[in-house]
Amino acid sequence: GPATVPLLSVRGLTKLFGSFAACSAIDLDIAPGEIHALLGENGAGKSTLVKMLFGVLQPSAGRILWDGSPMTIASPGEARHLGIGMVFQHFSLFEALTVAENIALSLDPRISLSRISDEAASLSKAYGLPLDPKAHVADLSVGERQRIEIVRALLQNPKLIILDEPTSVLTPQEADRLFETLFKLKAEGRSVLYISHRLEEVRRICDRATVLRHGKVTGACDPKQETPASLARMMVGSDVAEV
Ligand code: ADP
Ligand code: MG
Repeated sequence: GPATVPLLSVRGLTKLFGSFAACSAIDLDIAPGEIHALLGENGAGKSTLVKMLFGVLQPSAGRILWDGSPMTIASPGEARHLGIGMVFQHFSLFEALTVAENIALSLDPRISLSRISDEAASLSKAYGLPLDPKAHVADLSVGERQRIEIVRALLQNPKLIILDEPTSVLTPQEADRLFETLFKLKAEGRSVLYISHRLEEVRRICDRATVLRHGKVTGACDPKQETPASLARMMVGSDVAEV
C-alpha cells in the first residue's frame, strides 16, 4: 500500500551560532504512532534540533514539514497550536505556586483553575503520572515536577510530544513509569520524539533512532536491530572497539 505520510519531516535543517553549525543539514521523518529516538552524545545538537521544532529557535536553513505541508514554527505557542508538546530538560516552574496554578499560566486565562485542576487530575490518573494539582511545586521532587510538564503538554492534546533527556533526572523506578506513559501515548497513535544519550533505554523503548554526532545525522535505524557497539559507533565515531 501507499507509504504513510510522516507526521513530521525535517529536510536540510541547519542552525548556525555565528559560524558554528550546532545542526547541519539534518533530515528526519517521524511516523504517526512512533517512538523515535534522537540519540547522541552531549553537544551533538539534539536540544538545538528540537528547539527548532518547538519554535524556540529559528532554523538558519532547511525545512520543517508537518503532515506533509511546509511549516514555519515561529514560537512555542504556534508549536502547541499545531499539536506539538514539549518537556524541556530544564523546567520553568514557579516554586511558590501550585501545580494547577503553574499549568494555568500556559493556558487561556479564561479557563478556571478548578477546571484545570480537574483535567490535570484526570490526565495524571489516565497516564500513570501521580500528581496532586493543589500541591506546591516547592514541595515536589524533580520527578513530580517533570510530571507537571508532561500533564501540561497532554492538556493540549498533542500529536507529537518531545521529551529532552527525561530520564536524566529520574530514578530507575520513575523511568519505568515514564516508559509506560510513553507506550500509552504510542498506543493512542501519538508520536514521541525521545532524546537520550543512553543506548540501553533507546533500544528498549524506541521504534526508530536518528543518531547525531557533531550536528550531523550519522545513522537512522531500528535500534532493536542494532548492537550496542554499532549504535555507539554512530554516536561517537568509527574507532569504537567491538564489545
Ligand atoms: P545536545 O543537546 O546534543 O547536548 P546542544 O544542542 O545543546 O547539544 O548543543 C550543540 C552544540 O551547540 C554545543 O556545542 C553547544 O555548546 C552549542 N550551542 C547550543 N546552544 C548554543 C547557543 N545558544 N549559542 C552558541 N552555541 C550553542
Ligand atoms: Mg541537550
